[in-house]
Amino acid sequence: MKWIELDGSRGEGGGQILRTALSLSMITGIPFAIERIRAGRRKPGLLRQHLTAVQAAAAVCGAEVEGAVAGSQRLRFKPGPVRGGDYRHAIGSAGSCTLVLQTVLPALWFADGPSTLRVSGGTHNPAAPPADFLIRSWQPLMQRMGVTLDIQLLRHGFYPAGGGEVLASTAPVAAWQPLHLNARGDLRRQAAVGVVAGVPAEVAKREMQRAASQLGVLDEELRVLPSNEGPGNVLLVVLDYPEVTEVFSAFGERGVPAETVADRAARETRLFRDSGVPVGEHLADQLLLPMALAGQGSFTTHVLSSHLQTNCKVIEEFLPVRFAIEESEKGVSVSLLCTDAMTAERQDISVLADISG
Ligand code: AMP
Repeated sequence: MKWIELDGSRGEGGGQILRTALSLSMITGIPFAIERIRAGRRKPGLLRQHLTAVQAAAAVCGAEVEGAVAGSQRLRFKPGPVRGGDYRHAIGSAGSCTLVLQTVLPALWFADGPSTLRVSGGTHNPAAPPADFLIRSWQPLMQRMGVTLDIQLLRHGFYPAGGGEVLASTAPVAAWQPLHLNARGDLRRQAAVGVVAGVPAEVAKREMQRAASQLGVLDEELRVLPSNEGPGNVLLVVLDYPEVTEVFSAFGERGVPAETVADRAARETRLFRDSGVPVGEHLADQLLLPMALAGQGSFTTHVLSSHLQTNCKVIEEFLPVRFAIEESEKGVSVSLLCTDAMTAERQDISVLADISG
């Protein structure tokens, strides 16, 4: 049997290499071995979030796994058939629930029936998609691609305490729709969502006011959570366009003024808003895998990030697809190439052939 060998230090050198490999191994049935997991990170190897992603993946497909222990820098993963069902996992730290969801959901789109997936841990942490980003930005695009998906944020969990929870309901995809996201239309609404747990509401109000002074008129949504969901504070800026919703975030930190937090979120928002493109830096690398599953698609973003480039390479290892990336004054355009030969090869991957008919 063919095994895919991956070097986790390549390119971005982070957890996404492992998570994408897990998703695609479950979907294609191709086993993989990975060395030097997260070698590019300050604390390399499997942290609790990555370990939970491996365990959650193994649970849905009955995989044979070697190396799934905390700190491990090598893993072997031999998948079995993906089964729909009701799954529940606890990360046990503030490690990101959303990244665990994004690992397992794509496999459940090829399962034998509907599923629910409940994950507890961190729901709002830096360096991962906040739950609000998944719900407002990523989920509608998945739905547009033909995915049945409902993600609920049951409880917030911030670094370092964690203790949040998300619940996703999904089902096998009947027919994929290609996503072409190369224009966004005119801005319909911009909102600031100030979230506090165990932190005075005044902090969120100051953040929202400052964001409005930096970005122009914003609808304000104040979310004051029970203090036992904290301590935590995040400012989310939501931009709604006809074709896409983007979410930018910055986290409150002890000793950092609310205004500085708002300035961080505003800077990222402005970069995106001024660029004129429909897809922001983070959304870009998160669209690649679903697009490859659909077998068609394209988008325009404004940053050629190392996450994006590395994720393209990992996807190309597992699936008969190629990503074409072109930089111009309009931005970075990414399109999925699927030649006739590739389409024929795709038919050999039984689950993909079943779905594309
Ligand atoms: P890794 O660093 O390899 O574990 O991957 C982190 C993932 O989280 C990538 O898909 C990033 O695009 C995503 N991510 C990081 N920060 C944000 C953010 N602020 N909003 C949305 N997604 C994010």
